[in-house]
Amino acid sequence: MNRHILVTGGAGYIGSHICKSLARAGYVPVTLDNLCNGNPWSVRWGPMVKADIADPFTLAEMIGQYRIESVVHCAAYAYVGESMRDPGKYFENNVARSIRMLETLIENGVRQLVFSSSCAVYGIPEELPIRENVPTRPVNPYGESKLFIEKALDWYARARGLRSVSLRYFNAAGADPGGEIGEWHDPETHLIPLAISAALGEREQFEIFGTDYPTPDGTAVRDYSHVSDLADAHVLAVQRLESGGANDIFNLGAGAGHSVQDIVAAIERVCRVRVQAKVGVRRSGDPAVLYASPERARSVLGWRPVHSDLETIIRSAFDWQLQCRDDKGLRYSRD
Ligand code: UDP
Repeated sequence: MNRHILVTGGAGYIGSHICKSLARAGYVPVTLDNLCNGNPWSVRWGPMVKADIADPFTLAEMIGQYRIESVVHCAAYAYVGESMRDPGKYFENNVARSIRMLETLIENGVRQLVFSSSCAVYGIPEELPIRENVPTRPVNPYGESKLFIEKALDWYARARGLRSVSLRYFNAAGADPGGEIGEWHDPETHLIPLAISAALGEREQFEIFGTDYPTPDGTAVRDYSHVSDLADAHVLAVQRLESGGANDIFNLGAGAGHSVQDIVAAIERVCRVRVQAKVGVRRSGDPAVLYASPERARSVLGWRPVHSDLETIIRSAFDWQLQCRDDKGLRYSRD
């Protein structure tokens, strides 16, 4: 069996952790990334080609050169707020270019795909924890773009024999426990890195988006799972497809809800720092409470998150941010 796996978006935060997990499992990840958001320094476990997913010639060449049979498709725009302001950008990249990529994959004999989806497909859930079979009603173009591809994959399985696993991520957080890669977004919009950099004095203060939610402390609740655990689920998904598994969809969340206040308190406790937090208004499009039932991922995929306790997530994110601060020159010069 060929051990090369094509990873689109392999230079990104989640994509690079997936590459590391694939390499640990004996595969060779081959990254395809246009580097619009990715970082070349995070590609460490296999070759990278800088190109767009919708470039059929490069894609066909990579499939031929590396005899690709399975693809992990992570490349996408992922800023919810931006998608509200500029939906066309999200539909063009996440939908139209993904479809062009799927056509090229199929024309070149690829029949197995793992798709990075999102809990944004659910919108505002009617029941908690969220199971895969609840209605999907996205409340932003980002979630809509992910749902569109999930549905397209269902039709591609029936019509063209492309089998896929869609993984609906809840909140990815933390950094590689080995300290080799971690989160590096520009601009950074995520709760944990922003609160940590406020604590480290890298930004003036951190804002809590809304304290008037119908939750015990008034702040929004999310399900944070460690990025290395999410990455490991992709290896299981590839293996499932390799052993003939049919199309399927799984939630990837740790199954526990933590409020913004819980996260701030945990950062202060675990890292022994003060987070200067200012109370702000709700961010548009943010549901009050989201957390997964990871039951299907456990029972069907055999997924066991081992790093997703809050302390490990925060400790690894904090260590990574300290390392980035010490190593900024090096990091930029690697780009
Ligand atoms: N959040 C916040 N301040 C920030 C960034 C995020 O209060 O500076 C809140 C946000 O409103 C949400 C939670 O933290 O309730 C997680 O947000 P994040 O952007 O990390 O992930 P998302 O849930 O949007 O994927």
